[in-house]
Amino acid sequence: MFNALVVNKDEESGKTSAAVERISVGDLPDGEVLVAVDYSTVNYKDGLCIGPGAGLVRKYPHVPGIDFAGTVEASQDARYKPGDKVVLTGWRVGEAHWGGYAQKARVLADWLVPLPAGLDTRAAMAVGTAGLTAMLAVMALQEHGLTPDQGPVLVTGAAGGVGSVAVAILAHLGYEVAAVTGRPETEAYLRGLGASQIVPREDLTEVTRKPLESELWASCVDAVAGAMLGRVLKQMKYGGSVAAIGLAGGAAIEGALITPFILRGVNLLGIDSVMQPYDNRLRAWERVARDLPMAKLEAMVQPATLSDLPALGADILKGKVKGRVVVDVN
Ligand code: NDP
Repeated sequence: MFNALVVNKDEESGKTSAAVERISVGDLPDGEVLVAVDYSTVNYKDGLCIGPGAGLVRKYPHVPGIDFAGTVEASQDARYKPGDKVVLTGWRVGEAHWGGYAQKARVLADWLVPLPAGLDTRAAMAVGTAGLTAMLAVMALQEHGLTPDQGPVLVTGAAGGVGSVAVAILAHLGYEVAAVTGRPETEAYLRGLGASQIVPREDLTEVTRKPLESELWASCVDAVAGAMLGRVLKQMKYGGSVAAIGLAGGAAIEGALITPFILRGVNLLGIDSVMQPYDNRLRAWERVARDLPMAKLEAMVQPATLSDLPALGADILKGKVKGRVVVDVN
């Protein structure tokens, strides 16, 4: 028997509740690889799955946790053997499939990635899905020609998980980083990660009808969307790219016009981490190990245990979590 955060749903009221319970290996879903989980983390989607589910969870009882890192305990797949260190993100684990908020998880071998050299399981979850996606965004911007001499790169939702890692990676690679935050108290933290300019959230939340604004940003990593993305597109420099990752500020692009695309050649690059092909995942993890300074990663970490998760899940939905939560499931 081992510990897991289990979400149950009351069929009558439709309400969900999450609590730490004892479960057994026999309770786990089918899969080829049994992993002893060391660490998991808290992403925005985890907040949804710990709470009301938001249509992501298929059936209850459910074990959330969209990512984890740990050690292979048993494997029916030749690619993995007991003792191997592995990391998992995406593939709807923690949503449609039981996830990492347990001391053991059973998953498909295709979903795993061997832990890259230079990262231990704790560091891998300090990065987690949010950080890996930030890396994928930076890679996409670079593939679209971004170089440090082009001017400031904007990061929205900067004090959150995706934003914090994006700021640290970009600064380490020599980019000038402008960080958008709605929490002025995080300024010292963001400057510590490498931001050289702080942009107050309210500067970018008013929906305007202007077709274009002054050209300010060479590129942008956007975790927010909503009115902010509508404004940012109009402020992009000629030929600049925006990597769209998230929707913390709304699912629409409010006030968006076609003008930035057809008059300034702006690119909107969609970034998905869930179905990302294996080779690109491997490449992204290797880039994380190289391009993200471990001291800066440590500055983002807030430690937690399984029993902290119900409160943390609610906090992340309210935009109240700073940096990256690392959940020690043991
Ligand atoms: P966090 O909650 O850690 O960060 C989001 C940040 O956005 C907050 O910290 C806050 O930053 C800012 N924010 C929150 N609400 C608003 C608002 N109403 N208006 C403007 N800014 C707001 O979440 P994550 O970093 O883990 O995830 C960010 C987004 O990226 C989520 O939508 C998530 O679902 C998505 N995502 C997508 C992935 C993909 O594969 N495409 C993978 C991972 C995440 P501050 O306080 O600094 O203003």
